Amino acid sequence: ARAHLAAMEKARGLNAYILETPERALAMAEVADTKIAAGEARPLEGIPLGIKDLFCTHGVVTTAGSKILEGFQPHYESAVTHNLWRDGAVMLGKLNLDEFAMGSSNETSAYGDVVSPWRRNKSDTKLVPGGSSGGSAAAVAAHLCLGATATDTGGSIRQPAALTGTVGIKPTYGRCSRWGTVAYASSLDQAGPIARTVRDCAILLGSMAGPDARDTTCADLPVPDFEAAVSRGVKGLTIGIPKEYRVDGMSAEIQALWDRGAEMLKDAGATVREISLPHTPYALPAYYIVAPAEASSNLARYDGVRYGLRVPGKDIAGMYENTRAAGFGREVKRRIMIGTYVLSAGYYDAYYVRAQKIRTLIKRDFEEAYASGIDAILTPATPSAAFGLGEKGSGDPVEMYLQDVFTITVNMAGLPGLSVPAGLDAQGLPLGLQLIGRPFDEETLFAAAQVIE
Ligand code: GLN
Repeated sequence: ARAHLAAMEKARGLNAYILETPERALAMAEVADTKIAAGEARPLEGIPLGIKDLFCTHGVVTTAGSKILEGFQPHYESAVTHNLWRDGAVMLGKLNLDEFAMGSSNETSAYGDVVSPWRRNKSDTKLVPGGSSGGSAAAVAAHLCLGATATDTGGSIRQPAALTGTVGIKPTYGRCSRWGTVAYASSLDQAGPIARTVRDCAILLGSMAGPDARDTTCADLPVPDFEAAVSRGVKGLTIGIPKEYRVDGMSAEIQALWDRGAEMLKDAGATVREISLPHTPYALPAYYIVAPAEASSNLARYDGVRYGLRVPGKDIAGMYENTRAAGFGREVKRRIMIGTYVLSAGYYDAYYVRAQKIRTLIKRDFEEAYASGIDAILTPATPSAAFGLGEKGSGDPVEMYLQDVFTITVNMAGLPGLSVPAGLDAQGLPLGLQLIGRPFDEETLFAAAQVIE
């Protein structure tokens, strides 16, 4: 813990942490020492972790990357972080993120951009770590924690993991409890870990996951031994390569890494075959209706009365307006407006209901692939390597939304998806491959990822 706190102090330029909690870290580490000395070590005893600032932490300011939650001190602990502390992990601090997890580059945070520890060959250009879990990915990549919690609504674990050469898994919807995690789009949000190895991810997810009656969408299923699954191999498995992911303009480098990943799985005893997921092209537009719709509803609670920031007004409506105008950033306001529009009378059927129908078709594509004997699906994790700060999305937000073309289908279908480093591009930047699994079969993803890693 002490070594990590020292490293964090030296790496403040990355802006990975919004809040460092050294006193708490050292107190937790001391308890860990006592447990270890007594021969009573718990599964994660003394392991220093960073926590995405979307997870409520008891008595520790939780901002969701937004000014509107400035100074908000939850009087409860999220289910996921509670599970980690139960198993002996140590909290180093709260990690930066895109505001309310809306973004793909960590440039929408009210607490400043996160800078990736990576650079292109012979270049000083500062690069994004991806988002929204950019603080988590940058901190893990820069050794500012041994692992981090993250969340993924449309790619926010897998995309930053891919851009920073780390491993991230979004488990099946319902594997981790959402209780105490600030909501973005409740039917898509899932927590998961980012770590430096597949095995570390398996161990962390084993602790984070599990039934919780306080979240009615949390599955009442036992948590498998994910760590044991890591070394299981892929002999006899059938891996699908969806042809719809071969999108126009995909770089030859990404195509080559994708082919190489398929070869590695083949060499390890898997069968690889092409499959079709025909509704893939509709996932991104449908997501950008469903996610903002749910976000506009979830964000209605920030009214200046119950949490964080309050800006006075001439009457109560004026106070709401002033608080929300000052507290929310541009991207969040954009999502609230889109969401309110698609849910409004007259447009609801044309947009929201249609997007939900597309969601069903996407889910069916995957069900058919799995019914035909496919055990897991291999795709690239992102359409490109990390880009420069300020380089994308300032003119046209869709440019940024396109970062998630390969990851969003997984959230729409509620499936598990894992991103594993697959190699470096010609600029020396990491690229990732994504593995998609059957519902509640994260084990196969860990086994296959270990072969590629
Ligand atoms: N980039 C996507 C969005 O902005 C996904 C974010 C996420 O997964 N939290 O909605």
